[in-house]
Amino acid sequence: MAEYTAAVEIQNVSLIYHSLEGGETEALRNISFTVKPREFVSIVGPSGCGKSTLLSLIAGLLRPTSGTVQVEGNKVEGPSPKVGYMLQQDYLFPWRTVLENALIGLEVMGQKDRASVERVRELLTSYGLEGFEDHYPGQLSGGMRQRVALVRTLATNPDICLLDEPFAALDYQTRLFIEEEVGRILRESAKTVLLVTHDISEAVAMSDRVIVLSKRPSVVVNEHKIDLGLENWSALAARNEAAQFKTYFRDIWKELDVHA
Ligand code: ADP
Ligand code: MG
Repeated sequence: MAEYTAAVEIQNVSLIYHSLEGGETEALRNISFTVKPREFVSIVGPSGCGKSTLLSLIAGLLRPTSGTVQVEGNKVEGPSPKVGYMLQQDYLFPWRTVLENALIGLEVMGQKDRASVERVRELLTSYGLEGFEDHYPGQLSGGMRQRVALVRTLATNPDICLLDEPFAALDYQTRLFIEEEVGRILRESAKTVLLVTHDISEAVAMSDRVIVLSKRPSVVVNEHKIDLGLENWSALAARNEAAQFKTYFRDIWKELDVHA
């Protein structure tokens, strides 16, 4: 049993970017929230409000100007193998095969061995990439490349997955299909997930909780505990069968206030 109660804890976090010309951009202002172990939380907010900044803080790539960021009860001082981060533009290396791309994180951590390679092969299979291990990214569809990037993030077996708009580049049909697969796999593997998206439907369909951020400087506008009353989660059922779906959508839409 873990002794920490929050997988991620953000307390009064502010972040100001300083440019070389002396300009300042206040991205985050006094943000606080927690994510429980195995919870699936989405963050929605207008473009440029600081969502990627927030994930970079949790991943240990940035330090807050003030406030504290904790992962599993410890202050974040730098990148940690506990946290997997799929960047907003997580490009695959075109000269590496699917398998070689998926193994990069393990190589960097010096953990590539027979067992871990086998595990990555299994992940590729469960993400529908069996038979494509020796293909190059250029030979894959957009949806398949996205899945390779996700497998790469999961390959090091992080407790916490930070996903920055992982489905944004996909067409609608593919996105639904991938949401379904990814949502199911992440739930089954009991990961803690923090998903950034600008798609309200995606946030409501995928999450246990949705955190709404304001325009920059970003503050937490509201949090919504999502209960769609579905016996078996599915991204499609969430959209099509859950009576509550539209209500959540409308409430979050109003809070986002994109035209203000
Ligand atoms: P989002 O992911 O919500 O679109 P970001 O976190 O990428 O927003 O950016 C938040 C704000 O901070 C934006 O105004 C952006 O231009 C600015 N910003 C992001 N990264 C930097 C940086 N390295 N230096 C200066 N400003 C930055
Ligand atoms: Mg972003």
